[in-house]
Amino acid sequence: MVRIICVLFCIFTLTNAKAEAKIVKVNSPYSYERLQKDLNKIQTRYGENIEIKTIGITNFGRRISGVKLGKGKTNIVLVGAHHGREWLTSALLMKMLENYAESYVDHKRMGFRSTDIFNQVSIWFIPMLNPDGVTIQQHHLESFPPSLQKQLLVMNEGSKNLKRWKANGMGVDLNRQYPAGWKQLNQEPSNPSYAFYKGKRPLESKEVIALTEFINEVRPQVAVAYHTAGREIFWNYKNGKYLKRDYKLAKKVSRLTNYKLSKPDPESVGGGFTDWFITTYHKPAITIEISYLVGETSPPLSVFKKEWKRNKYVGLLLAEEAKKLSQ
Ligand SMILES: [Zn+2]
Repeated sequence: MVRIICVLFCIFTLTNAKAEAKIVKVNSPYSYERLQKDLNKIQTRYGENIEIKTIGITNFGRRISGVKLGKGKTNIVLVGAHHGREWLTSALLMKMLENYAESYVDHKRMGFRSTDIFNQVSIWFIPMLNPDGVTIQQHHLESFPPSLQKQLLVMNEGSKNLKRWKANGMGVDLNRQYPAGWKQLNQEPSNPSYAFYKGKRPLESKEVIALTEFINEVRPQVAVAYHTAGREIFWNYKNGKYLKRDYKLAKKVSRLTNYKLSKPDPESVGGGFTDWFITTYHKPAITIEISYLVGETSPPLSVFKKEWKRNKYVGLLLAEEAKKLSQ
């Protein structure tokens, strides 16, 4: 009897020691500082299963971090927060990273999917491509030079409310910066602005240079850009002979998330990350808009739980698809 109690006690203590507190918490706006802290903690906890890399530095000195999970030679890349007001996508990717890492080291399944896939396919997370824009949108201006405050007011059309901020710290819209149909994009606004300014030329912004160079280095089989909002998936831009393949993949993600699939539009404007990826590498890329529509602001924190549930298995599904594509 004493022996049984002893064994039970040991099992109890061991299980308790394993159940460590979650690192990524989404109970307040997800900031650049929080991201850096969470990345450090994840690195400490998951050690060799994780690789953190700075892929670039913004105009105002913030790091653009990339995190690799897994040991596979095949890669997929998931990018969040091209746009300042879309930091909920950073939180989503960080939550995904932590959950996948936790299951991977314990050889646990997620749903019916095995996380052993990460022995063959690695996921590179770029959770926050635009940390300057996120920081401006969250009204943390103390770390920017005072001269920027005046410029921000001009770029924000005189309004002190920065909640609608979409651009980077220079007033350039990062998802209108890629060399894929850039010339055909609307010229308005013609000057740096809180949103939509496409820049003087493509690949002008440091963030976009960093991402395109990084992509060229890791050559993913599939690329995803997470945005807000609208609960919709865009997948089509001059896909050429790969239209069917790319449609099939997007359809799978649509079924998994219950987000609607956009209709192919021959008139669709380019300039975006996935447009560039599709036309440059002839591999599938999708843009996933999380949350219901909210207008020119960030979605409320209250929607996060539902969006996480919808997206929990997206990275795993895409890793499985990337493995097939690489064969
Ligand atoms: Zn966006």
